Amino acid sequence: MKHYICQTCGTQYNAKRQPIAFCPICEDERLYVKDDGQTWTTIEEMRENGYQVEHREEGEGLIGIGISPAFGFGQRALLLKTEHGNILWDCISYMDQEIIAMIKAEGGIDAIAISHPHYYGSMVEWAEQFDCPIFLHADDAAFVMRESDRITFWEGNRHVINEDVTIVRLGGHFLGSAVLHWEKGADGKGVLLTGDTIQLVADKRWVSFMYSYPNQIPLPIREIKQMMKRLESYPFYTLYGSKWGEIIREDAKVRVKKSAVRYIQVLDN
Ligand SMILES: [Zn+2]
Ligand SMILES: [Zn+2]
Repeated sequence: MKHYICQTCGTQYNAKRQPIAFCPICEDERLYVKDDGQTWTTIEEMRENGYQVEHREEGEGLIGIGISPAFGFGQRALLLKTEHGNILWDCISYMDQEIIAMIKAEGGIDAIAISHPHYYGSMVEWAEQFDCPIFLHADDAAFVMRESDRITFWEGNRHVINEDVTIVRLGGHFLGSAVLHWEKGADGKGVLLTGDTIQLVADKRWVSFMYSYPNQIPLPIREIKQMMKRLESYPFYTLYGSKWGEIIREDAKVRVKKSAVRYIQVLDN
């Protein structure tokens, strides 16, 4: 019995003798199956193939964590260090002894929170290793491919993790798509970790919002308006996206709002 991992989206599955024929997360119209078909691996096989976990500071209080060479679609998680504990925002498919030792030296992980199913990775493996809970939005429960008692499904539009940190459901990309708000970040001006619920684009002064990024399916105007409404009461100055180096360092909230206005204007014409 093995916990197979889909090589396209990086999602780890319940233990099986044989991998299943297809990955429902990749078959979903928001992702894709590669030209050479569905392929699987395991953490053990990735270790034999020489994968490593790269980590480096992405910003104050935030350590970026990603697989090297890039795996899946290049997911990057963030270890957020707060006065009230360490939170892993989003997850990756692989871990090794070096990253386990590094995180333990930083005080371990108190909770894992994930933006949406494209970042579930091997979350249960991580939760077991660091003996912590996983917080996922209940609206995306159907996309959980490895079940665990460690998963808590939260409902509604906000879930408080600790005094400084709240997960906010914006929806859009997925019904339960969420962002993480760190109130004390950026010297008290606020930090937002977005996964690809909000996506940085080539011009770093702007963001976008899509139902599918690889297949370029936009979101309707009503969804963008709802996302902005849900975000309204959370101040933030700096924003960290879903991949390495995707950072808006200044005036992030102004830029997100301008981007939403631009998006709606284009669709509305
Ligand atoms: Zn997949
Ligand atoms: Zn996604």
